[in-house]
Amino acid sequence: MGEHRRLQGKVVIATHNPGKLEEMRGLLAPYGVDAVSAGELDLPEPDETGLTFAENARIKANSAARLAGLPAFADDSGLCVDALGGAPGLLTARWAGPEKDFAAAMAKVEEGLREAEGTLPEQRRAYFISALCLAWPDGHAEDFEGVVEGTLVWPPRGPAGFGYDPMFQPDGQPENNPRTFGEMTGAEKHGLPPLGRGLSHRARAFMALAEACLGADFPEADIG
Ligand code: IMP
Repeated sequence: MGEHRRLQGKVVIATHNPGKLEEMRGLLAPYGVDAVSAGELDLPEPDETGLTFAENARIKANSAARLAGLPAFADDSGLCVDALGGAPGLLTARWAGPEKDFAAAMAKVEEGLREAEGTLPEQRRAYFISALCLAWPDGHAEDFEGVVEGTLVWPPRGPAGFGYDPMFQPDGQPENNPRTFGEMTGAEKHGLPPLGRGLSHRARAFMALAEACLGADFPEADIG
């Protein structure tokens, strides 16, 4: 464990996405951190010009921290498909177009897999990644990453979750009944130990952050 800075008091959640805001508020609430959103503070959204998920999370967190004069918390995430050379990657949200049509985005992934002759499960490997950054107005920043590996299925299954959830089947499930994220409850997908497994990329990144900066301890978790 290197030197980590403890987060106390108030934090800005550097997102304008209401879904993410609610999820991040929920994650931070048990630690007595008081969260205010970038939207509530009327902060501008910086351009995500980074070449990695971590760089984009850092850009968003730094910008909000400097403008608000408070610590700020930001995330950047996406889906990387092995057979597509890591695509959609940084363009994960953009593949859904301005209409945020994730049925079309999943169909595009499937089309790419067919072109790459990805028919067997081992040819359809992918992972979700979440980069989190906690930045302070003096320039100090802490970066964390979480990954969940799995297989892409077709057709998509399950009404739950969002984005590419219905086609992503995370590893580590019973062979006779593997489910996609779309077939899991939010608690099954994101729930933290001791009640949940900390399965999703975002849950894993958050556990690492909480251990480093919020004084949390997840002794049984498989973080990373
Ligand atoms: P961001 O808002 O730039 O982080 O874009 C992330 C994109 O990745 C979103 O638009 C989602 O489509 C996708 N994504 C990230 N996390 C998940 C997840 O847990 N399930 C499904 N899709 C996700």
